[in-house]
Amino acid sequence: MWERFLAWRRRRILATHALPDELWDEAIGMLDFLALYRDDEVQALRDRVVLFLQDKSIVGAQEFTVTPLMRVVIAIQACVLVLYLEPDAYAGWSNVVVYPDEFRPRIEYEDEAGVVHVRDHEIAGEAWEGGPVLLSWADVERSRDFSAAGMNLVIHEFAHKLDMKNGAPDGIPGLRPGMSARAWQRVAEAAYTDFVRRVEAWEAAGEPEADAPLIDPYAADAPEEFFAVCSEVFFAAPEVLRDAYPEYHAQLAAYYGQDLAARGDASVLQEFRRMGGAQRYPSSRGSINARRSRGSQDQGDTRTRSVVADDGYRYAPPILRPYGLGSALPTPAPASRRRSVSSTPRGRWR
Ligand SMILES: [Zn+2]
Repeated sequence: MWERFLAWRRRRILATHALPDELWDEAIGMLDFLALYRDDEVQALRDRVVLFLQDKSIVGAQEFTVTPLMRVVIAIQACVLVLYLEPDAYAGWSNVVVYPDEFRPRIEYEDEAGVVHVRDHEIAGEAWEGGPVLLSWADVERSRDFSAAGMNLVIHEFAHKLDMKNGAPDGIPGLRPGMSARAWQRVAEAAYTDFVRRVEAWEAAGEPEADAPLIDPYAADAPEEFFAVCSEVFFAAPEVLRDAYPEYHAQLAAYYGQDLAARGDASVLQEFRRMGGAQRYPSSRGSINARRSRGSQDQGDTRTRSVVADDGYRYAPPILRPYGLGSALPTPAPASRRRSVSSTPRGRWR
């Protein structure tokens, strides 16, 4: 009964909250890696994005104005992960908070021994258990082009969200029926152990540029970071993960229900890049800055039932107040994760 109600509700939202074509085309045109998806999948992705934008408030921090285009660009990347997962994959939390650039949330927390720690360093993004996803817009924009940045911040943080769905993040998301947790653990552990060994050897050798790991060394930080970073690679440079850790890649493909590396990817992607993405998706790239200045007035009143943006599209209202400078931040779950990235693109993927 409840399931049927939810299905009805989803149909109703899709019927009444369509995204304007122009906005959708522009957002799609900004994300190269979507070239690997068929047209029917892109349509399914669009439906997911509409539902996501109804379910989550994407709000600015530090008086940052989040434009409709920014919302859609974030939502598309979040929804690519769950394209073949159950509709409630991101249930249980409400907000995406967008900072203009890397941010420094000063957070005090008490450990199990009662010692109070203060965390006060710059981060590009963070996912909180049962709480919001925090993103630096500068890093979202930078990581649109994975081959230049070697990262995809949105995919990283939302992979953490999936990992957190079945408890504290440990690199093992809630697996699909038929998948073996034991097999996942064995394969993931072997890949992670091998990766840590390689990164340690590379660091011991003085981190020579020529031998830099193809996967971001940050993945060696913890098993859950390995899962989040490898998820970035899985979607944005699938052949890299398949070639490095084929068994782990196969586990991720079974979990996400898609295997981009099996699609003749490299040639499609290279062709797409050669055409500048212009032929398949008519929108030009890089116009997000132009949109930045004409954002919607959609922050503030938490009692508003929905928010009408300046392009006529209705968004779900913020459920929490946007976190501004100096405002109180809720205490994060102890297992919250961070993602620190260098601000200079490393170009390792070229
Ligand atoms: Zn992380």
